[in-house]
Amino acid sequence: MAPSPDSSELISTNPANGEEIARVAVTSATELNAAIERAWQAFHHCGWKSLLPHKRALVLHAIADGLAAEKESLAQLQMQDNGKPLGECRGMVDSAIGTFRYYAGVCETLETDVTPARGDYVSFTVLEPFGVVAAITPWNSPIMNDATKVAPALAAGNAVILKPSEDSPLLAPELARIALAAGLPKDLLQVVQGRGCDVGAALVAHPGVRMISFTGGTVTGRAIARVAGDRLVPTALELGGKSPHVVFADADREHAVAAVIAGIFGSAGQSCVAGSRLFIEASIYEEVLAQVVARAKSLRVALPDAEGVEMGPLASFHHRDRVTAFVERARAEGGRILCGGAIPTGGEYDKGAFYLPTVIDGLPATAASCQEEAFGPVLVALPFKDEADLIAQANGTAFGLACGIWTESFKRAWRVGRALEAGSVWINTYKQSVTSTPFGGFKNSGVGREKGIDGLKLYAQVKSMYFGLHAQPLPVAK
Ligand code: NAD
Repeated sequence: MAPSPDSSELISTNPANGEEIARVAVTSATELNAAIERAWQAFHHCGWKSLLPHKRALVLHAIADGLAAEKESLAQLQMQDNGKPLGECRGMVDSAIGTFRYYAGVCETLETDVTPARGDYVSFTVLEPFGVVAAITPWNSPIMNDATKVAPALAAGNAVILKPSEDSPLLAPELARIALAAGLPKDLLQVVQGRGCDVGAALVAHPGVRMISFTGGTVTGRAIARVAGDRLVPTALELGGKSPHVVFADADREHAVAAVIAGIFGSAGQSCVAGSRLFIEASIYEEVLAQVVARAKSLRVALPDAEGVEMGPLASFHHRDRVTAFVERARAEGGRILCGGAIPTGGEYDKGAFYLPTVIDGLPATAASCQEEAFGPVLVALPFKDEADLIAQANGTAFGLACGIWTESFKRAWRVGRALEAGSVWINTYKQSVTSTPFGGFKNSGVGREKGIDGLKLYAQVKSMYFGLHAQPLPVAK
């Protein structure tokens, strides 16, 4: 998606072939104000926040049903919007469906906690919605990221203003349409469209927004946190990563190599949890690296709906420019490009935003290429001597989103898993995710946890209520 020259609309192009697929009107400042006003009206008057939780759950289940009924067309649309292989897009719609079902279930737990009577009073705590919350999402997994915010925010009783990325704006309006058809009261979920620097910034600064949930880059997250800090508005931030994927000498080699490949080249590396730094124990470094490079070279890079496709194009041409620049800098830093490091040519490659799976080594862990997120199919490989060396190198970035550890030793997995600074630790697996398990980052990878009960509590505030049980005057001094 690129802004059109007059900037009142976004032009969506299919990154697989460069063809225009849709134009989307940018939300004006007046429309944004009106949307937030309507959201407050709906919040106060439509009865959603005071609906019995099991009745809210029925609507969330109906939204899940609506998504399921349109799964194939939604997956196709996402594939055109951001170029991911069709199978991955189907999986993302499934994930969105599961998220609505999960929060339909947990919203029933939003009941009161009662502290038994203590003499003259009894106290309750209740969870209440904030009112209007802003959900701002990135382009890499639109329907999935949208659902991860919208489902718990609605389950907690809020109204939501959803701003998808200007690079993938087509799925959010579909979600809002399906939600309305499923019985969600009008205006409780509205979509605004536009670039982050104007529409996103205006949303974050708007006095009518009481909570901000953001997923995207760390630089943007920091900018949003500054504005939110000034306004004293709570934020949930899901940010970037440079996740270490570790192979010890005693690992199940075959499965480890397959997971390393899936961990970085799945979604063409455009995943926040991409295992983008490969740490291999020194004694097996050359051997495992050769296996990884051989497999990377054999990956089927093709149109996203091609038979057997393993990696599609990048999500946009301008993102490919960023990935190209990242690899060129690694080259300039002295990195050895073991495979890829180029745009493929010929046939379908000439029309789409393709980039080859790339493996680089020969750089110190402190090099910019080993510190910064490429958000593309770029893996940097590093050897380590022992556990202490590994932990020092792996923890030596500003990020802390996820990590993977391959070893047959349970004790080592436990030790290293506890020592690595990461919100998610995968042992002898990678990139697994269930809605009931919290997800989020350490350090610059984020603040707060999505998914699970924690993911719902982000969107609720605690109110404590005391009920006096005796009609007795309160003494001034106890
Ligand atoms: P981005 O930060 O450029 O944009 C994300 C969203 O924020 C977009 O909707 C954008 O329009 C908006 N935005 C940009 N500037 C803004 C501002 N000043 N105020 C308000 N909104 C603003 O990120 P991106 O390029 O769309 O996505 C890639 C990044 O997202 C990567 O860093 C990736 O790691 C991260 N990500 C993190 C997770 C996670 O769960 N931790 C998941 C997916 C992606």
